[in-house]
Amino acid sequence: MINIIGKRSFLLVSRYSQHVRKMSLVKNLAFVNNKWVAATSGKTFEVTNPANGSVLGQVPDMDTQDTEEAIQVAYDAFQSWEFTTAKERALHLRNWFNLLEENKEEIAKIMTAESGKPLAEAAGEVAYGNGFIEWYSEEARRIHGEVISSPIHSKEMMLIRKPIGVAALITPWNFPIAMITRKAGAALAAGCTCVVKPAEDTPLTALAIAALAEKAGIPKGVFNVVTCSRRNAADVGKLLCQSPLVAGLSFTGSTNIGKLLYEQCASTVKRLSLELGGNAPFIVFESADLDAAVKGTMACKFRNCGQTCVSANRLFIQESIFDQFVSKLEETMRGLKVGDGAQPGVTQGPLINDAQASKVNDLVQDAIKKGAKVHLGGKPALDKGPRFFEPTLLTDVDHSMRMYHEEIFGPVAVCIPFKTEEEVLAIANGTRSGLAGYFFSNDLPQVWRVAKRLETGMVGINEGIISTPEAAFGGIKESGIGREGSHYGIEEYSYIKYLCFGNL
Ligand code: ADP
Repeated sequence: MINIIGKRSFLLVSRYSQHVRKMSLVKNLAFVNNKWVAATSGKTFEVTNPANGSVLGQVPDMDTQDTEEAIQVAYDAFQSWEFTTAKERALHLRNWFNLLEENKEEIAKIMTAESGKPLAEAAGEVAYGNGFIEWYSEEARRIHGEVISSPIHSKEMMLIRKPIGVAALITPWNFPIAMITRKAGAALAAGCTCVVKPAEDTPLTALAIAALAEKAGIPKGVFNVVTCSRRNAADVGKLLCQSPLVAGLSFTGSTNIGKLLYEQCASTVKRLSLELGGNAPFIVFESADLDAAVKGTMACKFRNCGQTCVSANRLFIQESIFDQFVSKLEETMRGLKVGDGAQPGVTQGPLINDAQASKVNDLVQDAIKKGAKVHLGGKPALDKGPRFFEPTLLTDVDHSMRMYHEEIFGPVAVCIPFKTEEEVLAIANGTRSGLAGYFFSNDLPQVWRVAKRLETGMVGINEGIISTPEAAFGGIKESGIGREGSHYGIEEYSYIKYLCFGNL
């Protein structure tokens, strides 16, 4: 019976993949110098739908030679883009934003097909991702310098802001549009050109937005997308780090790769912005509104099937409300619907690929073997396909288990009881990660204390969803350097130049 249902839904979803393949924004070539290009080697790699493994397309498997050309093109384009006026850049970005908005449904469908995230979430990400282009179209005109009060009569001094040059942008699969627009929006607004290397799992969304950049009239060479398979990612990445023509690198992805890129950027002393893994604590104090805390947990933990760097990794619940919270959470989690994200009502799509699916399963089985209690789920949802995992709720998780220390990146909620504020802060801060942290409390002095003491770059206070183009996103410790979004995002792509006028 299960097989028959599985087969039917596969056919249904393959039809969805076929529908996506025919969309005008689905491109099977990379985008360099406003041309649609193949890899010099002629090699390609497949992009598949993680919900059912069906093939969505083939894109060029570019290598260092192709990347070298893209860098050169971006470098040449920088020579004129740098000197466009802020207003001109703002208008280009605005045109791009308008087209992104006009095509938001198609982009969301492409994203669901290649990333597996449910359509409603994909639509949400497109709105969020487009928002960065809108925001930076506005910010572009507010990049100002300063006139210094000179201490000497015959001199005047000025600080102006200049774009750094070519920016290399390496992005992950979990937010296929937003991780690109939040970097590229700021880079283009500042006057930089860019070479984007999207994740191998989700290049189609990147190429779709490149098609719209072209249509928006963004000059050739300003926005380039180089696609490559995982096999070529290390060499392409190394070149982007070491090329003297690239002025800065912005990377969002795993901590290990981020550290490698940091090292590789040393030889050219490149400007570097890193947004790496988190191990977000989510703390619920006894004064909290439990319904709001459960709602916040659901949004924070189960968005994108738990595959976000700001997902709550460990839920710390004060002892006196622990049982009540766990049972409310369990009840709410029972409402989650696992399946192909293209189907209505589904809230939990597949994990992105086989490696991620087996990693999540390994972490859960390790915890269960060492004594964790399973309230819900606890195993792959094989009736849906090999990459689906049941929404899982665990308690009795301790230090000995891998998931206590490692980023889970899956639909697994782990509740851990604590007694005091001091104790929970010590545990929450006792990690080398420091991206996001969340807590729920209605005790005002405590709210202020904990907000200041959590060692993270961002804090959600009685709130589980914090990202927005207007605010500064980024981490401390090994979660990264630099900030994205807000007016601070511009700083990653610009430098201060001091002008001293003498003999006046
Ligand atoms: P994940 O494990 O979530 O896929 P990664 O950090 O491995 O996260 O991937 C994020 C991005 O980094 C992707 O675009 C990927 O292709 C790229 N990448 C992977 N390995 C390297 C590398 N050695 N150098 C540069 N980029 C890399």
